[in-house]
Amino acid sequence: MIRNSWTPPSGWPATVGLCHETGAICEAFKLGRRVVASVCVTAGDKDRGYWILTPCGVCQERLFAYGPDVEVAVPEPADPRRWRTLRLRDVQPHWFARVFPDDVWPYEAQDPESRG
Ligand SMILES: [Zn+2]
Repeated sequence: MIRNSWTPPSGWPATVGLCHETGAICEAFKLGRRVVASVCVTAGDKDRGYWILTPCGVCQERLFAYGPDVEVAVPEPADPRRWRTLRLRDVQPHWFARVFPDDVWPYEAQDPESRG
């Protein structure tokens, strides 16, 4: 059973660990597929079961490569076993790249599906 939502290399500091969704994001990139949604699930404990986690900031940045409309699961505040989806643009309404001229999102010039 996976107890965490991230995987540090054995013996390395936890700061170099990767969230599990990183593997799926890399696989999509490798296959030239677009990521349209992401759900991060972590094991709580026997009594509480599984919880939904909002993607961490690093994963949100990775997902932004696929645009601000990627849907991500966020936990319901009263019960983290339940979730709903929000678009990245709604999770991070003040994302740093919003300041670029004409409200252009940087990913639009680097669409992963247009790679050769
Ligand atoms: Zn993450």
